[in-house]
Amino acid sequence: MPELRYIQVLLPLRLKWEPLYSCSLPEGEEIPVGTRVRVEFAGKEYVGAVTAEAAREAALSIGENRIKPIIGYADGLERITTEELALWRQVADYYLCTAGEVFKAAYPQGKVEEEETKARINERLKQRLARKEEQIARARKEETRLRYIEERDRILEEMSLRQAQGPVNEPVEGPELSDAQNDAYSKIKNVFKSWKPALLRGVTGSGKTEIYLKLARETLDNGRNVLFLVPEIALSRQLEDRIREFFPEELQVVHSAESASRRAEASSFIRRKPYLVLGTRSSVFLPHRDLGLVIVDEEHDQSYKQDNPAPRYNGREAAIMLGKIFGADIVLGSATPSLESLYNCSVRRFGLVDLNRRYFDAEDSDVEIIDTIAERRKNGMVGSFSRKLIDRVNGTLRDGGQVAILRERRSYSTMLQCQECGEIIKCPSCNAALSLHKKDDGTERLVCHYCGRVFEYKGTCSKCGGALRPLGAGTQRIEEEVNTLFPGARVARLDSDSARNRKLETGIIKDFAERKIDILVGTRMVAKGFDFSGLSLVAVLQADSLLGQQDYRADEQALQLLEQFRGRCGRRTEKGLFVIQTSQPDHPVYRSLLGDSGVEETVTTLLAERKLFGYPPYSRVINAVVKDYNLSRIGLMTRDLAAALKDSGMKGCRIKGPYSPAVDRVAREYIRVIRILLPKDRSLSVNKKCLSDTVDWFEKERKYVGHVSLDVDPV
Ligand code: ADP
Ligand code: ZN
Repeated sequence: MPELRYIQVLLPLRLKWEPLYSCSLPEGEEIPVGTRVRVEFAGKEYVGAVTAEAAREAALSIGENRIKPIIGYADGLERITTEELALWRQVADYYLCTAGEVFKAAYPQGKVEEEETKARINERLKQRLARKEEQIARARKEETRLRYIEERDRILEEMSLRQAQGPVNEPVEGPELSDAQNDAYSKIKNVFKSWKPALLRGVTGSGKTEIYLKLARETLDNGRNVLFLVPEIALSRQLEDRIREFFPEELQVVHSAESASRRAEASSFIRRKPYLVLGTRSSVFLPHRDLGLVIVDEEHDQSYKQDNPAPRYNGREAAIMLGKIFGADIVLGSATPSLESLYNCSVRRFGLVDLNRRYFDAEDSDVEIIDTIAERRKNGMVGSFSRKLIDRVNGTLRDGGQVAILRERRSYSTMLQCQECGEIIKCPSCNAALSLHKKDDGTERLVCHYCGRVFEYKGTCSKCGGALRPLGAGTQRIEEEVNTLFPGARVARLDSDSARNRKLETGIIKDFAERKIDILVGTRMVAKGFDFSGLSLVAVLQADSLLGQQDYRADEQALQLLEQFRGRCGRRTEKGLFVIQTSQPDHPVYRSLLGDSGVEETVTTLLAERKLFGYPPYSRVINAVVKDYNLSRIGLMTRDLAAALKDSGMKGCRIKGPYSPAVDRVAREYIRVIRILLPKDRSLSVNKKCLSDTVDWFEKERKYVGHVSLDVDPV
């Protein structure tokens, strides 16, 4: 006799609670937590995950008629593991969203469908195979039998194709570690003994990768699995190749732009085989199992943070949570760790391990700062380049070296101004200047970098008809200037416009590594994880654009980027040169690169400043971001929300704003921010709860639901 059961089901929605459903099961049978079921909610069908079985009395107290039966089981879908559920709850708790929102991020709808189709196709193939085997066994005539066998082999072939991984090479042995590497390695193992994450601070080229690989090898040898997190896969192509040499069988590469079917394939792989996942932040949400080691490379990188939609999480923090759930070893690595992680070392939450020697013993590159205002006065500028830098580039090319040039802004020109009325051409939907882009065929278009809208370029001001003048050279324009200034050189550009095509981008990186390109121009992409042995000069143009933002983190981030870029050159034995063109040559960030004060000391200064003002890492910042199409309403609502937060009873918190961000209107919506600084003490979790409850209450009370989002640890 089937028995009626009541189950709680987590839905991939922003619900704060888990609705109850009923289903019937034969007596004595269980419905395990994590089972995926089809249910109807608010008139729509969803695939949810069972989180608990509710006691009959509790269920009935809601009223039996209000509890709907499930539509059915989601056939062929794997169960959600208890570790996945635990991670979703922790992420939701920390980032003030709901477990349902994390569920949705982990299992996007498309992915669920793909997973099902795959399961169904495999099921059908299995059935066909069984049928054929039967037919073969029963066949009387030899002729028919042979035909069945042929058909069976075709089915088998299709099945194996569906599981094909591509050709697999024999794994190679890792190199011997240097003494310095070995020393760092033992220190990391020591940190692991105290169940803490290790922070490996190692200058670029010190050979952190080899240490990670050794740790990974041990973990896999012990029968446990590895998650290797990187900020962006595209920029880790060299790393990927390196890992593939060592772990040809275990490597699974998973990045955010991955198709649903690729992701489902990776999921099904890691459910069954020993694995090393190399992935971007979202790979923390794969159905991990027996995780023994979590590596977070370039842990300071802002790309680990997801801004939108919820969960607005940082992959580094989520990876630490995941590692702890599995009792895995955790190692974070960077040449320029985040202040947050350094702070965690200072309070002994992490263990710090330094690796100061470069593997090839190269010295730090020299830094040369060029004051563009002074140069302009002396007539020393040609377009975006100073004559000094032009000389340096020519010298490098003459010596057979390669050059990388960083300009933070993509586009041809970052702004257009009317020569008659002085108007800056803005996007009609955003409070931001439009930039001018040139396509390969020479056609020009105006692009908004905030909402993505594209406009025809007429060359005249829409207000007065005056001629437009481009201001601010972007990467495309720099590329053009480079071609004119260095006519013999082979030049390429790397930014998110040129990288839209992945094949093209890999081609550019490969060509540069193989010295088929002399000068590479690009955005911060050129500063990230490449190892180019021929690169001996790196230069930043208009470095001021890195400092410009009125944000307390701008200096930290500028320093990290510049240090990282500097580490790109002179990686073998010869010394490289790092040229910075700026109009603020005395800025402390450059001073610290020059070595007057040293990066270490700058970090200390930055930390002292943060402490003085009570900024992170000495407090936690949460932004309440409000969006609204209506200007007067957003003004009123944010003022009232700020007042409500002040009255909410949070202890020791500071509430700043509301204020307008630098770009305060995007895609027609106005944006305002209230910043809440919470002390990092025992009241933190109570304060966070109070904050989120107050926002919920405010949204409901004022009929303003969906306008306010909370961003914990914004970047
Ligand atoms: P990081 O990640 O710290 O910037 P890498 O791991 O990329 O440094 O190492 C820099 C270079 O040194 C690479 O070319 C790498 O192959 C080489 N290298 C590092 N350790 C060793 C080792 N133990 N034996 C041989 N080569 C090494
Ligand atoms: Zn726009």
